[in-house]
Amino acid sequence: MNVIDVIITKRDGGRLSDEQIDWFIQRYTAGDIPDEQASALLMAILFRGLDPAELARWTAQMIATGSRADLSGLAKPTVDKHSTGGVGDKISLIVCPLLAACGAAVPQTAGRGLGHTGGTLDKMETIPGWRSTLDPDEVMRVLADSGAVINAAGPDLAPADRKLYALRDITGTVESIPLIASSIMSKKIAEGTGALVLDVKVGSGAFMKDEARAHELAETMVGLGAAHGVRTVALLTQMDVPLGRTAGNALEVVEAVEVLAGGGPSDVVELSLALAREMLDLVGLDRVDPVDLLHDGRAMDAWHALVRAQGGDPTAELPHAREVEVVTAPATGTLSRLDAMAVGVAAWRLGAGRARKEDAVSPVAGVTWHATVGDAVTEGQPLLSLHLDDPAKLPEALDALEGAVEVSSTPVAPPPMVLGRID
Ligand code: URA
Repeated sequence: MNVIDVIITKRDGGRLSDEQIDWFIQRYTAGDIPDEQASALLMAILFRGLDPAELARWTAQMIATGSRADLSGLAKPTVDKHSTGGVGDKISLIVCPLLAACGAAVPQTAGRGLGHTGGTLDKMETIPGWRSTLDPDEVMRVLADSGAVINAAGPDLAPADRKLYALRDITGTVESIPLIASSIMSKKIAEGTGALVLDVKVGSGAFMKDEARAHELAETMVGLGAAHGVRTVALLTQMDVPLGRTAGNALEVVEAVEVLAGGGPSDVVELSLALAREMLDLVGLDRVDPVDLLHDGRAMDAWHALVRAQGGDPTAELPHAREVEVVTAPATGTLSRLDAMAVGVAAWRLGAGRARKEDAVSPVAGVTWHATVGDAVTEGQPLLSLHLDDPAKLPEALDALEGAVEVSSTPVAPPPMVLGRID
């Protein structure tokens, strides 16, 4: 096998054979193919695509560079969710314990944030004592006992993805639908879940700005799940407006706990319930109404169990920022625009996010908004609170918010949360 032939086949619009795909993924992961040749192939795939059979093989081979967890010994059905990343998206913190309380097991492998979107692990790690790395035996024990884990990807979880994603990041080849789909689905399939609900975000603060491309990505991932025996459904959800009222690590944990206590912002509750109902449906637990568990304390009990099982103290006070800078509403009327990307970039610049994988994040930095699109506001009222522990970061965060807010003199409806469903 010759890597130049593989590159040329795809460059000229041909189909890669199973042998070519297997050989490339194995050899690149083992370090036998240099990055420059791998990048040429990735760029050819970005322009030429992969057909469904090529993509299924490519993904299977990525999984085979590590191992697929076997959770069949659990007495409960397994189901997970994955979001393609947005601003203020703390839904996993709600849905994992909620599904556990409903009788499912959620074997979630989560990631850290990069750029303007937050990561579930960064949020959970603001809880004193909580640790993100469980070995496979611990995962089984925690799933059997408390019904949900939130675990960092171990070295055996689709190791090909770690190398390919890092290379895509520096070669302008992230935005390829087959490469995104295989990257996400190889990790989700390898974690061992039997069913999966995808939350594919669309809008200014999302990876996919355009609904047609988000739809194509969702369909591709649903197809890959089916090809690997994982029942998969996707919801397309809006991300022009940030979710809830907070973006920032500890701030989002507080908001998630409010929802688990039966309160919290209505958009977060709506999306959590929409995803939870899809998850319950996939595993045949659809007689349970998850809203009841948010109100009767069972979801909160499951949160406590989840946090404790991974060494955390769910009753400990979370860290707070030393400084809070308030931005006021520019006019009286209805908030008609609160740009998710601008809020996400502001939170990132305050320290909540990282520019490179190795960077540390601040647990306390972030943004709170006191009204969202569709709400009445009065000129001069507090609209945004910027939480920070390093005042030097404030000017750049304020710059990011330039033009992010608009107030209308006529009523404006909030955007619909769920834009579509693919199964
Ligand atoms: N998230 C992933 O895990 N992979 C991608 O390619 C894009 C987003």
